[in-house]
Amino acid sequence: MSGIDCFRNIGQLVQADASTQPGIRLRKNCALLVQDGRVHKILKDSEIKSSKGYTKVIDCEGRAVVPGFVDCHTHLIYAGERKDEMVERMSGVPYLEILEKGGGILNTVRATRRATENELFDAARKRMKRMMALGTTAFEIKSGYGLNLNCEMKMLTVGKKLRASLKVPVTLTYLGAHAVPEGEDREAYLEEIIEHLPRFRTLADGIDIFCEKDVFTVADLRRLFLQAKLLGFNLRAHVEEFSHQGGCFEAAKLGALSCDHLEHAAPRDIQAMHAAGTTAVLMPGVTLFLGGEKHPLSHSMLDAGVTLALATDCNPGSCPTYNMQTVLTLAASMYRLTPEQALAAGTYGSAKALDAEKDYGGLLPKQRADFNLLKTNDYRDMFYYFGENFVDATYIAGKKFRAPKDPATQ
Ligand SMILES: [Zn+2]
Repeated sequence: MSGIDCFRNIGQLVQADASTQPGIRLRKNCALLVQDGRVHKILKDSEIKSSKGYTKVIDCEGRAVVPGFVDCHTHLIYAGERKDEMVERMSGVPYLEILEKGGGILNTVRATRRATENELFDAARKRMKRMMALGTTAFEIKSGYGLNLNCEMKMLTVGKKLRASLKVPVTLTYLGAHAVPEGEDREAYLEEIIEHLPRFRTLADGIDIFCEKDVFTVADLRRLFLQAKLLGFNLRAHVEEFSHQGGCFEAAKLGALSCDHLEHAAPRDIQAMHAAGTTAVLMPGVTLFLGGEKHPLSHSMLDAGVTLALATDCNPGSCPTYNMQTVLTLAASMYRLTPEQALAAGTYGSAKALDAEKDYGGLLPKQRADFNLLKTNDYRDMFYYFGENFVDATYIAGKKFRAPKDPATQ
């Protein structure tokens, strides 16, 4: 057992704790003790009489400490950018129309297939470091820009290497069913994914599918999930994003850990999520970036007892942001969530979407000591002075993360 580091003089310490309402516990003037990378204890600051007994004492100068953000839905391994497509969309061409013309996801697929494993690794590692500098301390990463066996495996191998290299929790998801590859038949491609599933078992913790009009159907989701379940994959689904297809209800019925997007989810879907204990992953950055108007029924979800999670959806087409602070403030203003509700969703809720809420996300005793020391003494400033980066330092397992020198470089 190693020594204890003492972070003292914390003006506000925020913990995310589902046993409280609205999921946030606020402690004032306290000290956080960290041992072996985990939260050891939280004391009143007045109880710290001297530095004796501690390996290190860090003065937090009365500022606020919040749990590290958990980004539970990203597509951050990719090659190429889609700025031209952004301009096209801003000129009025709808997202799904661009996809139909062979753009959108398929554009990124072509670039990702061309990229070497090292190129993908270097680009994704830079992105993750920028995200960590902005306060994210745990990630979920999906494949889905390969759409063939080799490239999907290449993406997930990169994911495993990122986890080892950056020493942060990374949950990997196989998303072969992200889109139908150019020139291929949907049913034949789905058949191929199902056939290859066992080969992904050691590479990915979960399976995902984009269930949407002109992409994959509810019946496809059911077929894939039944097979994936037999092999022990966690189930996640992109559902009810641009239209209501019924994928959310079906995914929840099959025991999905999370249903993601949900702009068009109906009350019946919400009941199904509640009955199954499925977490609702909301991504307001996508709505903002695509200029959408439809918002998920977030308050019906909360009232029904469904856990809300927040994520960036970080991807080159529909939401190229790295910043969970932005996502939290968007959720607060677009969905009318209180800062407490938004913060609980982006920490505890997102960890629950990854089945990891016991290990991290709450800054509770015995959990990983992943947290952010803010530049302010009131965490609500993140929501009030929106658009500014309020993270002064990110701590991963109690150790200060060295932010990249030039975070503006891609
Ligand atoms: Zn996504």
